[in-house]
Amino acid sequence: SLEQIPRAAPDRILGLTEQFARDTRRQKVNLTVGVYKDGWGQVTTFPSVARAQKLIDSDFELNTDLSYLPITGCPEYSSAVLSFLFGESCPQVGPRLLEEGRVSFAQTLSGTGALAVASKLLALFLSRTVWISEPSWPNHQNIFRSNGFTDLRTYPYYQNGRLVVDEWLEKLKTEVRKDPETRHSIILHACCHNPTGLDPTREEWVRILDTVHELGMIPILDMAYQGLESGNPPADAYVLRMALDEKRYKCWPNGLFVCQSFAKNMGLYGERVGSLSVVTPPAKPHVREHVDSQLKQIVRSIYSSPPGYGSRVATMVLSKSFLRMQWYKDVAFMTERLSQVRHNMHNLLKWPGLMNFQQQHGMFYYTGLSPKQVDVLRDKYSIYMTMDGRLSLSGVNDHNIDYVCEALDAVSKI
Ligand code: PMP
Repeated sequence: SLEQIPRAAPDRILGLTEQFARDTRRQKVNLTVGVYKDGWGQVTTFPSVARAQKLIDSDFELNTDLSYLPITGCPEYSSAVLSFLFGESCPQVGPRLLEEGRVSFAQTLSGTGALAVASKLLALFLSRTVWISEPSWPNHQNIFRSNGFTDLRTYPYYQNGRLVVDEWLEKLKTEVRKDPETRHSIILHACCHNPTGLDPTREEWVRILDTVHELGMIPILDMAYQGLESGNPPADAYVLRMALDEKRYKCWPNGLFVCQSFAKNMGLYGERVGSLSVVTPPAKPHVREHVDSQLKQIVRSIYSSPPGYGSRVATMVLSKSFLRMQWYKDVAFMTERLSQVRHNMHNLLKWPGLMNFQQQHGMFYYTGLSPKQVDVLRDKYSIYMTMDGRLSLSGVNDHNIDYVCEALDAVSKI
């Protein structure tokens, strides 16, 4: 009966935002969710996006078309995103993949939707075992479990303030080889690893991709922060470029899955704009067609078709070259502010938890604080961050930086 339904655990990140809203203390700081705020603490619309919105507003047809989009999204969005991801971001191999019709594509409800559709497809036909970094974005486990994965495993990623790539690859080799009958998927954070902010070096990525390829695993690239590492969106697709290097990996026989989001890098969070691309092996056109058809089936059964407005904005930004140039400037500006905050905090903080703060990048500072210290920050200082000690840098600004750093120094002594 209904009464037998147990209470689910609150979302580890969004639950804190609700608690923050209820906090009545005057000096309170929300550093939980990864939403970019400017130096005045405001969530802003990127200038490129605001101009695209104006253009859409003044276009009668675009502005009044509230009808359904096709199941896997609007064709203009598909071609704009494909040419951004596989043209501009991967100029060596990408355009030929598109010409050969090897990329199956769906407009999705942001990065989460891409991961959900990908995991559903994988669980239906290919794999129910997935490897997730330890630590990782908590929703990875949630999404893959909810969509049919029965075996969720973790690979060591970060221990005592450093990446542990050797341990990671050793574990994969031992465990995957023990279990040759099972097809293993693996989630790889394409840049700005969440929550640690630390990514493998290019040399380490070669070893990682070599291992994943050699073990016959299915790579799922999670690209939620493209542009927030270097300030340049195409440059940050380096893992995708490396995975598509045909001299090294002739192909990924069970597909290469790319789950991409415009939430952070275009500030389109609530509009839910993203995509799933599945790169299929060469000379097998029916594979792409079959994948296309299954993506449609999956989307149709869950939400029928994606929403229109946000994807129209992204299409406009990507396809008008003056807007795309402005967008690159906007991303560079955001990234610059985040690294400035990082730098300023580094100068102010006195505590020893700083070891790799300057090497981290992206939206977060992974402090290494324990759950107990995070509790004290929240209860005593009204500073909210996630329990894993992750702090969203853009919530720090000139008005609260001293307060935040003093509180961090104080709790670091506990
Ligand atoms: N992957 C990772 C690692 C993330 O941090 C996020 C955003 N928090 C996402 C995917 C997807 O976010 P969205 O659904 O908002 O695009």
